[in-house]
Amino acid sequence: MMDLKENLSSVLSRIKEAQNKSRFNQKVELIAVTKTVESDIINQALSLGVRNIGENKVQEVQRKYPDIKGDVIWHLIGTLQTNKVKYIADKVDMIHSLDRIELAKEINRHAIKNNRIIKCLIQVKISEEDTKHGVEIDNVIPIVREISEIYPNIKICGLMGMAPYFEDKENARSYFIKLRSLFDEVKDLNIPGVEMKHISMGMSGDYEVAIEEGATMVRVGTAIFGERVYL
Ligand SMILES: *Cc1c(COP(=O)(O)O)cnc(C)c1O
Repeated sequence: MMDLKENLSSVLSRIKEAQNKSRFNQKVELIAVTKTVESDIINQALSLGVRNIGENKVQEVQRKYPDIKGDVIWHLIGTLQTNKVKYIADKVDMIHSLDRIELAKEINRHAIKNNRIIKCLIQVKISEEDTKHGVEIDNVIPIVREISEIYPNIKICGLMGMAPYFEDKENARSYFIKLRSLFDEVKDLNIPGVEMKHISMGMSGDYEVAIEEGATMVRVGTAIFGERVYL
């Protein structure tokens, strides 16, 4: 509990500092990444003022959902299989990892079933690493147009991206600049039904740089909850 409180306040003050440095004047939301973190710890984080939590696995959302108390906003941030959309369509507020049309089709179908609109970010492949998923930069505008035209229960709200891991976080900056400029390009198109509002970029190792380059959402796990233990 001690550590959690200290870690959280340190992350929040670093976010503020980076915001002050940023020339974009943007609001920044902290998404506390709770993968592998048990529900009682998540509830402690919520009692300390965390509001947004991010999970990368559908099974973890399902397992923890009944135990998480209060005013909480769920984000799905990890790669999503089409056959699992049905388990989270009634639970998550935003999906950060929309990266293909067939997934959009399934999200839309289940959003309709649940009589809701699901907010989505297009995950963009800004790094050359094969392990990082996402839409290729050149395909982002066509996919945003297509999804917004044919899937009314999906609300595209922005872009998500991941820089490669670097010892020196300065090296991540060029990747964030790339995502920011793509975001501006899509935004300037004023595509009907699309509300370009969020850039989800930055993790424990590089969120300050991401904020300096325009992030409106940072996804931070380790810096809040400590190193993950995979069982
Ligand atoms: C795990 C994860 C994070 C958080 O990573 P940390 O380095 O622990 O802050 C952010 N985004 C995604 C998609 C993740 O899977």
